[in-house]
Amino acid sequence: MLVQQILKSKGDSAVITITPQTKVSEAAQILAERRIGGLVVSRDGEGVEGILSERDIVRSLAVRGVACMTETVSEMMTRNPVCCSRQDTSDAVLARMTDGRFRHMPVVEAGKLVGIVTIGDVVKARLEELAMEKTALEGMIMGY
Ligand code: AMP
Repeated sequence: MLVQQILKSKGDSAVITITPQTKVSEAAQILAERRIGGLVVSRDGEGVEGILSERDIVRSLAVRGVACMTETVSEMMTRNPVCCSRQDTSDAVLARMTDGRFRHMPVVEAGKLVGIVTIGDVVKARLEELAMEKTALEGMIMGY
């Protein structure tokens, strides 16, 4: 399955972004309100400068304490995150996420942010694909 099919199945393709100057406390609020685990950091909503995950916030809280909540996202985000394109396969994305130990991947086309896929999206797509393959194989064996 291609990333573009995953984005289509998710429906609303708008990606929630924050700027590097957003306060970490505000980013945490957005993560909680939207019930998501990561935010793409972008100055203009198109270029991808970084990614901020709930894990970054938890780690900073453990290491530096609550003072980190008043810092800007630019100090905590992962810069130049690994991105994929609409034409990448779900298997390739899953392999990159597994190798890199992260669960979010911005989708970029001609330098512009067009979506985001999570490990949950990719696993769901893979399970659906496997279920279809199983039905097709059963059909062949049973001679439907
Ligand atoms: P996650 O598992 O996505 O919540 O993130 C785990 C760690 O990987 C955090 O430090 C993130 O900032 C970082 N991270 C998340 N997504 C990416 C990505 N696509 N490329 C590089 N690093 C990432």
